[in-house]
Amino acid sequence: MIPSIETVSREEITKLQEQKLQEHLQYLQANSPYYQRLFKTHNIDITTIKTIDDLQQIPITTKEDLQHYNDDFLCVPKNEIVDYVTTSGTLGKPVTFALTDADLDRLAYNEAISFAGAGVTQDDVVQLTTTLDRRFMAGLAYFLGTKKLGAAMVRVGSGIPELQWDSIKRFDTTYLIAVPSFLLKMIAYAEANDIDYKNSSVKAAICIGEPLRDQDFNLNTLGQRIKDKWDIELYSTYASTEMSTAFTECKAHRGGHHHPELIITEVIDDDGQPVKDGEAGELTITTLDVKAMPLLRYTTGDIVKVHREACICERTTMRLSPVLGRKKHMIKYKGTTLYPQSVIEVLSSFEALNEYIIEVTTGDLGTDKLIIHIPDTFPLALHKKLKEHFRANLRVVPDLEILTIKELRKKKFPEMSRKPITFIDSRE
Ligand SMILES: [Zn+2]
Repeated sequence: MIPSIETVSREEITKLQEQKLQEHLQYLQANSPYYQRLFKTHNIDITTIKTIDDLQQIPITTKEDLQHYNDDFLCVPKNEIVDYVTTSGTLGKPVTFALTDADLDRLAYNEAISFAGAGVTQDDVVQLTTTLDRRFMAGLAYFLGTKKLGAAMVRVGSGIPELQWDSIKRFDTTYLIAVPSFLLKMIAYAEANDIDYKNSSVKAAICIGEPLRDQDFNLNTLGQRIKDKWDIELYSTYASTEMSTAFTECKAHRGGHHHPELIITEVIDDDGQPVKDGEAGELTITTLDVKAMPLLRYTTGDIVKVHREACICERTTMRLSPVLGRKKHMIKYKGTTLYPQSVIEVLSSFEALNEYIIEVTTGDLGTDKLIIHIPDTFPLALHKKLKEHFRANLRVVPDLEILTIKELRKKKFPEMSRKPITFIDSRE
């Protein structure tokens, strides 16, 4: 089930996208209070925007714009809305998204072709180990996509390894949809309860929320830790509520494939200029065929790279690298640009170091300073090795600050926080 548009030449893909872009701009001009105002304020004549490159004449839309003018993005009367969701709100106030019936169909199509790319067929039983409700768009998308593919779904929901294993046995689940670190919990439960997980019916997991691979597409520490224990196929998928579109790996596991009929992507630098293929930049998207809350040049805040080398699957579409990090979290340390994720990657390769906090502050010269708070339980003998590991992998060595385990946990679990903190940004 590969849409024909995903197997044609780059020129043909661009032609279709530019045609859809025209329709999109006209739709926004006619229906979007936010974009009507934007076009007017910036004297933009949408009939002059004909190519993907012409998009650069239009100002970007940011997460803050969505937060401040949330209602102005709505393009349909309220009685056409069939589903309300919110963004996760991990970075500030959550944003409301509304979907029409047609938007749910689009979401179903998106997820069906994404899952098909990860090998799911109508013979599969897909088990959802994330929530379907809680105003979460993705859970519903997974259900609708599975239904559209003709596969079966078991909606177990998040957590409860016992119920996950019971469901696997009961329904012969073949695919799991899971956050990778939850797979480790399922493995631990199986080991503690004598469940022969290595010979279970599960053959693959479609993983969300945490990266599995590094920029060379090799499994990262988390991915390798799962694979070493449980030899199932691991697929990564990257999506967001704002995009309403997923980038999912095919069997090649070399980045998430783009669905050009659903979304226009640009990867831009700090000045809003496109970066070269293979270079890191901020993913900026324009949704296509979204009815309720379509977006134009929305900056996701995610730093990615574009890959266009031929893929072993039939698809000719470009692929997005694993996300390097959030633009806001970019650290410029001693001349090297890095993201918390790559620091986490170095730290998590030390099994003796299971608790730490990464902190970036402003140093004396106004430049970023990187500090790793580590517990006094981490053996002193390993400090040198940790530093060497940093030098080899990131070319820079952060300052290590030793705390008692009590002090560290106090920092890690502040009273108002529901989640443990691993990264603190205290830059001025
Ligand atoms: Zn492929």
